[in-house]
Amino acid sequence: MKNKENQINQMLYYGTVLVVIVLMLLGLFAGNPLLHHLGLGYITHGALVFLLSICLLIYPLYKSRFLRIIMIIVASTYFYTIFFLYPNTWSNFIFLCFIPAISILFFDTKLFYLSLLLNTLLIISLFSYIAIVDQGNLYPYIREDLIGNIINFLGSQAILYFIFYISYRRLKKQKLYYEQIKHSERLRTTGQMAAAVAHEIRNPLTVVKGFLQIYEKDDTFNENSKRHFSLMINELNTAEQVISQYLSIAKPDKDTETELVNVTFVLQSVTDLLNTYGHFHDNKIVLTIVEDCYIAANTIEFKQLLINIIKNAIEASKDGDSVVLTAECKKGLVEIKVVDCGQGMSKEEIDSLGTPFYSLKSKGTGLGMMICFNIATKYKGTIHFESEKGKGTTVTIRFPAAYMGK
Ligand code: ADP
Ligand code: MG
Repeated sequence: MKNKENQINQMLYYGTVLVVIVLMLLGLFAGNPLLHHLGLGYITHGALVFLLSICLLIYPLYKSRFLRIIMIIVASTYFYTIFFLYPNTWSNFIFLCFIPAISILFFDTKLFYLSLLLNTLLIISLFSYIAIVDQGNLYPYIREDLIGNIINFLGSQAILYFIFYISYRRLKKQKLYYEQIKHSERLRTTGQMAAAVAHEIRNPLTVVKGFLQIYEKDDTFNENSKRHFSLMINELNTAEQVISQYLSIAKPDKDTETELVNVTFVLQSVTDLLNTYGHFHDNKIVLTIVEDCYIAANTIEFKQLLINIIKNAIEASKDGDSVVLTAECKKGLVEIKVVDCGQGMSKEEIDSLGTPFYSLKSKGTGLGMMICFNIATKYKGTIHFESEKGKGTTVTIRFPAAYMGK
């Protein structure tokens, strides 16, 4: 399907290019006043037609920015050359106005602005030349109404800018939409996979935990071993809890009780919990809360979201650095920020967050962020990353605020 579409697009491109080349050749050979005495001007015209044709033909093979810049330069030179070589063909002026339209086809913002600026400068020089040097000798139609021509030129550039702006915005919107679809598709498949795996793991865990609970009460073991058993049971409890969370992702509409969550309270308990975790690495979590905030969510899931994000922040931080947590209510939203001065991420790394098993850690699962995105989406929240490699990361979590009594 996609292959066929590509083929059609390619045929359309080469068809159009063929028409353009035929038209350029007609301009070179059909009724050309310079054809009789093959001077330097005519040879330049021929060479530019040849160069432009080659550029158009090879563009699909080497879609590089360099080639685009070359194409714009060659096309501009071509249009300005024919404007100078054939002063009687007044319609050449139209082509000069539309030179920036070439970069619209490439959807390259910088190139478009550059071409727009360059063309304006060239036209200013051209009009100055006609007004001062030529004095309406070869270009009477421009000289006679110089102001009108300048206004028309500016108008054409404004129209081009408008076309570019509208189409570029639309394209960007479509791209964003496509990204969102891809993301939700990713979440759906992993949800199903997680359910299958979690289900299979839960049973053996229950058996192991059962035995450990028996051993914990067995007096034939010494106190030290019993302490180890108790730790093991705790770890198994955590594992069980995580599995239950995965299962809830797979069937997001069931098992979820939305309640009024006191964000302040949850943040405090998560901070206390993780400060013990942070101590392994000498990191501290600093919590600053501006006011009491509430959201409508499930407390356990909300806690899990925070724990995942804060744990990532601690893991990214250097030993001894703090992770700062803030929470405030803003325009009907509860905004929680997790700021670290750790290793940071590149744009590509941020884009990969939420992809199952995407992890840069040797012992990472790469599932934490996927769970966070799932939970946020479920309660109409968002998670936004701002990061710079080597400098740190700011994660902004936003949820619609809920109020007591509502
Ligand atoms: P895991 O923590 O198991 O690796 P996550 O889904 O929680 O999986 O995170 C995925 C990856 O995103 C991490 O391996 C890490 O490279 C990157 N990451 C997440 N948060 C941060 C952060 N605050 N700073 C730097 N990198 C981060
Ligand atoms: Mg993690």
